[in-house]
Amino acid sequence: MGKPNEHTRRVMVGDVPLGGGAPVVVQSMLNAPADDAAANLAQIEELAAAGCEIVRMAIPHRRDIDVFAQVCSASPLPVVADIHFDAHIAVEAARRGAAKLRINPGNIGGLDKTRAVLDAAGEAGIPIRIGVNAGSLDGALAARDDLTLPQKLARSAADYVRFCEDEGFRDLVVSAKAHDVMTTVRTYRLLAEELPHVPLHIGVTEAGTAFQGAIKSACGLGILLEEGIGDTLRISLTDDPVQEIRACWTLLASLDLRRRAPELVSCPTCGRCQVDLIGLAREVEDRIAHLDKPLKVAVMGCVVNGPGEAADADIGVACGAGSGVVFVQGTVVRKVGETAIADALMEEIGRL
Ligand code: SF4
Repeated sequence: MGKPNEHTRRVMVGDVPLGGGAPVVVQSMLNAPADDAAANLAQIEELAAAGCEIVRMAIPHRRDIDVFAQVCSASPLPVVADIHFDAHIAVEAARRGAAKLRINPGNIGGLDKTRAVLDAAGEAGIPIRIGVNAGSLDGALAARDDLTLPQKLARSAADYVRFCEDEGFRDLVVSAKAHDVMTTVRTYRLLAEELPHVPLHIGVTEAGTAFQGAIKSACGLGILLEEGIGDTLRISLTDDPVQEIRACWTLLASLDLRRRAPELVSCPTCGRCQVDLIGLAREVEDRIAHLDKPLKVAVMGCVVNGPGEAADADIGVACGAGSGVVFVQGTVVRKVGETAIADALMEEIGRL
């Protein structure tokens, strides 16, 4: 399903293929304290259960490297080391189990330091993401008034990629993010033109809290993915990272690129509805979010559109006055009271 980008060069992040026609990879970033291995591993378990395929972990200080190494050795998912300002941490992370490094060459201490990081990644056999950000552009480039911000971001990323490739390091992924949606879209379009062979990590950075961030990300990343741009995505939310994964999968399913969890079809309710449909839909959404079954589940408020949508879905309910008629693949299987609807739907889902 969908149209993965086949032009980009394939890199491996642990055992996860990225680029070169591989399915678009879903990732997130840990936000547990960097010095707490148990907390980070617990968060990785939650993320993996939600469908996360790669996690990124910040290593703010040299003293955090031991914890990072512990997390890498016990993690069921490949762990990317996120490093700013200190190339020594990046070199150590490569030696201590990172599946990939994320650096911004603009703040890692100069090209010699970048070379040391490339050498360490090359020895470890891991890729590097060059992550350029609107908030941390190189000063000389940022000051140029003959270039737009997307041109500056794309130029900065492309310059670093060429530097790495000239050094003989090609295991690269690139990102160039801004918090503004259309700046992000224009930047990635330029990157896809200038660096058609390099896998792109797409995202709208600092997108905000769950509601705003999901909408901004869906707009920007939806446009890019529909144009065939993007090999991996992160939806950055000021929220639990599990919500980022749910948003990623919802976006990929909406674009028919990949499906994982069931899709919820639910009506907006109106004056005809005689059950607490909003509460029911939220409960069902939460209970199906971790299921690895690409089903369609309909939760409908009344007989106007209810029976049609419920019958069209794999599993559905059309509610009436304090009750619901449950459908399984188009056939009515039972009628239950309002408080038993969610359990009945989950039971029927379990049977499929
Ligand atoms: S299915 Fe019924 S309750 Fe829901 S919005 Fe349509 S008419 Fe209203």
